[in-house]
Amino acid sequence: MKITKFKGDITPEIASSFRNSIAIDTEATGLQIPERDKLSLIQICDDKENVFIIQPNKDNFKAPNLVSILENDKILKIGHFLRFDKNALEYFLKCKITNIFDTKIASKIVRTYTDSHGLKNLVQEFCNKSLDKRQGSSDWNKDLDELTEKQLEYAANDVVYLHKIKFELEKMLIREKRMDIFNSCLAFLDTRVELDQNGFKFDIFEH
Ligand code: MN
Repeated sequence: MKITKFKGDITPEIASSFRNSIAIDTEATGLQIPERDKLSLIQICDDKENVFIIQPNKDNFKAPNLVSILENDKILKIGHFLRFDKNALEYFLKCKITNIFDTKIASKIVRTYTDSHGLKNLVQEFCNKSLDKRQGSSDWNKDLDELTEKQLEYAANDVVYLHKIKFELEKMLIREKRMDIFNSCLAFLDTRVELDQNGFKFDIFEH
């Protein structure tokens, strides 16, 4: 794993180096986006374990190179619980993310033998590694140069296993013939994020 840090945006060269898919995750000042909290960091990992950690410009959140990747429907964006990241990225970077694979939704649809669908659980099962989630709740809004090695490693670990997890979950979805229902759920995610942004945080299907 190699970590490269960027302030504001990735370079056009990095943006054009991505091929079929990237893994993506974000860190924020909290979970109430957009009412209270702001996007602090964006982590990207290509399929060769190169990790890019981007701290957006907090004055204007302008990142055209990054947005060009998020909006490129030929590049798959793999994320865990994209309901959060899609909301944060689309709201702050003013973009529309297309072509996604959500490992949490896939897990819930196909790993019916458990109700543990956290990233930590998937990393354990498919990568046989124990993810240390203790740095998760920390101050991600510090200057990029002031983030500790532990924080950077934590942020990178949230994206580095996603390609492998996606590969394994996809095999299971095909095996169990649940690919269609999974794709329908992904299609609904746009609406789910729109509901979040309009204050409907609860499950609208519940009795
Ligand atoms: Mn994360």
